[in-house]
Amino acid sequence: MDMPRIDITLNPNVVALPPYNAGMNIAAARKLSGRDDIAALASNENPDGCSPKVMAALTSLNPSRYSDPACTTLRAALSAKLDVASDRIVIGNGSEEMIAAVCRAVLCPGAKVAMVAPGFGLHEIEALANGATVDKVPMGTDLDFDVPAIVAALARAPAIFFLSSPSNPVGPALDIASLERIIAAVAQETLLVLDEAYFEYADDETPDGLDILSRSGLNHVVLRTFSKAYGLAGLRVGYAVFSDGRLARAVTSSKTPFNVNAAAQIAAVAALDDEAWMTASVASMAGERARVGEALASMGLRAAKSQTNFLFIDVGIDSQNAFDHVLSHGIIIKPWKERGYETFIRMTIGRPAENDRFIAALKLLVAG
Ligand SMILES: *Cc1c(COP(=O)(O)O)cnc(C)c1O
Repeated sequence: MDMPRIDITLNPNVVALPPYNAGMNIAAARKLSGRDDIAALASNENPDGCSPKVMAALTSLNPSRYSDPACTTLRAALSAKLDVASDRIVIGNGSEEMIAAVCRAVLCPGAKVAMVAPGFGLHEIEALANGATVDKVPMGTDLDFDVPAIVAALARAPAIFFLSSPSNPVGPALDIASLERIIAAVAQETLLVLDEAYFEYADDETPDGLDILSRSGLNHVVLRTFSKAYGLAGLRVGYAVFSDGRLARAVTSSKTPFNVNAAAQIAAVAALDDEAWMTASVASMAGERARVGEALASMGLRAAKSQTNFLFIDVGIDSQNAFDHVLSHGIIIKPWKERGYETFIRMTIGRPAENDRFIAALKLLVAG
C-alpha cells in the first residue's frame, strides 16, 4: 500500500524549504569520473585528518551507555579555554544543530531574520523552517562585507541576524572596526548570531568575536565547531557560547537531550588537549592556500580574500561546467548557483598533491 487513505497536513514552512546543497560524495564522484583517486575539495574538511590523540582517546569509548546529556567534561574544558562560564556554553551535534536550536528557541511565525548573501545555507533554511522571513544582505562587489548594508538591515530590527565571519562561502573576515560598527547597530530586540566556524584559520589581525561580543552587552551567540580545523567533521560536534545563561537554557530546551554522542564528546576533549596539532595543520593549510592563490592569479583568475581553508574563485564560465570539468579529473569542488555568483566555485584547500591536481585541471579549463 503506497497511498495513505488520508493526507496528513504537513508543515507548509517545511514543505517549501530549499534543499541544503551538501555537495557530491566520494562514491558518486568515483562513478561519474571513472577514477578512484578522488580529491574531495568541496566540504571544507581537514585533509590532515585529526590529532592522533583523538584516535587514542577513542579507544576508551563505551558504546552501550548513553552519553552525558550535559557534555560536562567538554563544557568544562571549553569554559577553561575560553574563560567563559560553562552555563553559557551549549554543545551541539555540529554547530549546524545549534543554528536549528537557536531558531527554534527564538523565532515565532512571521519573525524577521536577516543574513549575509552569499552565506551559509542553513542560516536561511532553519529560519524559514520556523516560519520566519529572511532578508538577504548582499556582499559587496569587491567580495568583502558591505558594512553599511549590514548596518541598514540591522536598523530593521530582525529577531536574528546571522553573520558568518570569516565568511562561508566567500572567505574574508570582518576587521575590528567593521565588527564594532555592526555591534553598535544591533537593536535591543535582535539576537546577533556570529558564526565563527573558521575562527581557527583566521590570522592574528582578525578580532576574536567571542571576546568582543562578551564585552558588548548585546544578546548574542558565537558558534564554533570541531569540524574544520580540528578535523572532526564526521563525528558532529560544535558549540554555541551565549551572552547569558537564560538564552543558553532556552536553547538547551529546544534540542534533543542526547544530541552529542559519546564518541564525539571524547574526541572533542582530546582535540582541545592537542591544540599544537591543530595550529600546525592550520599553518600548513595557510601555506598551501597562498600557493594555490598565486597559481590562480597567474592564470588571470580572481579569488576573494580568504581567512578560511577555502577559496571562492571566479572561473569566468558557468560554475556547473567548471564542476563537470574538474570532476572528470577526479576532483570535487562546489559550484555556486546563487544569482550574481554563477561563475564562482568554492575550493577547499587539500593536501599539496590534491591542490596540484586542481591547479592543473583548472589550467586546462582556462586554456579552453
Ligand atoms: C561548516 C560550517 C558550519 C557547520 O559546522 P558543523 O559544526 O559541522 O555543523 C557552520 N557554519 C558555517 C559557516 C560552516 O561553514
